[in-house]
Amino acid sequence: MPSGLIVKSSDIHAAGCYTTRPIRKGRRICEYTGPRMPKPEADKRYADRYVTYLFGYGAKDMVIDGFGTAMFMNHCCEPNCETEEEDERIFVVALRDMAAGEELVYEYNLWDSDEATQDCFCGKPNCRGTMFAAAEVERREKLVKKGQSRIS
Ligand SMILES: [Zn+2]
Repeated sequence: MPSGLIVKSSDIHAAGCYTTRPIRKGRRICEYTGPRMPKPEADKRYADRYVTYLFGYGAKDMVIDGFGTAMFMNHCCEPNCETEEEDERIFVVALRDMAAGEELVYEYNLWDSDEATQDCFCGKPNCRGTMFAAAEVERREKLVKKGQSRIS
């Protein structure tokens, strides 16, 4: 585990990732690590599992199957981190200065999920109620308007 980070229970979801020391805005905190595979292979592997830690990258046809500290970071609609991609590697970066003890959270911006909903329980006043990306919410709303009963 990268130094200065710990995993412990969280109010948002079972476990979360916290910093034990202050972090400056713009700092790369850690990398989203894990085995890499084509998305269809991951979908097959996790077809019957509700919780996965897949992170799409590149042209979104590949995923990282999260294994490491970053997979414990929860989604929040008022994030203090964001993810950035460089040379097909995903890094978690601080969006603002943080104090020791803060839980590290970023917006998942989920897309292309088989789940009908991905509810958010971050509890922030501006909570969007979903972990889907804005574009994904729009896409789904259009499908509903077209009268499709199933979203896939
Ligand atoms: Zn939320």
